[in-house]
Amino acid sequence: MSNNEGINECDQQHPIDYYKESIRLYYYNIVLHQHVEQVTQERNEIKQKLLKFQALEDQESELSMEDKRKRNRRSAIEIPRSHVCQIKNCNKSYGSEGSLMQHMKIKHGITQHLDKIGQISDQFKSNE
Ligand SMILES: [Zn+2]
Repeated sequence: MSNNEGINECDQQHPIDYYKESIRLYYYNIVLHQHVEQVTQERNEIKQKLLKFQALEDQESELSMEDKRKRNRRSAIEIPRSHVCQIKNCNKSYGSEGSLMQHMKIKHGITQHLDKIGQISDQFKSNE
């Protein structure tokens, strides 16, 4: 048995209907083409959405950067409170002399320089 005979035998068992096959491929091509168009349209829509999203994201990151800049001010916990109010029974402490001075002014009505207050409180302490 030669190879040619084998192929012929195969063709006879499964004869290809070229007319039907061409129609099948024709419709397959149309369907595929429609599918490609649909996918292309979807791709464009996604692309536009992505662009919108990126624009929003840029806006957001700009806003959050601003937010971070605002928040970069040290929080109350982080500030070393080395400036302690020297007034008796007042245990308030502040991160800066300015803050303490403000506290003195508002809470105790004292506008004198901090050093003087310190001296006065030292006198109080030594008198005790
Ligand atoms: Zn005080």
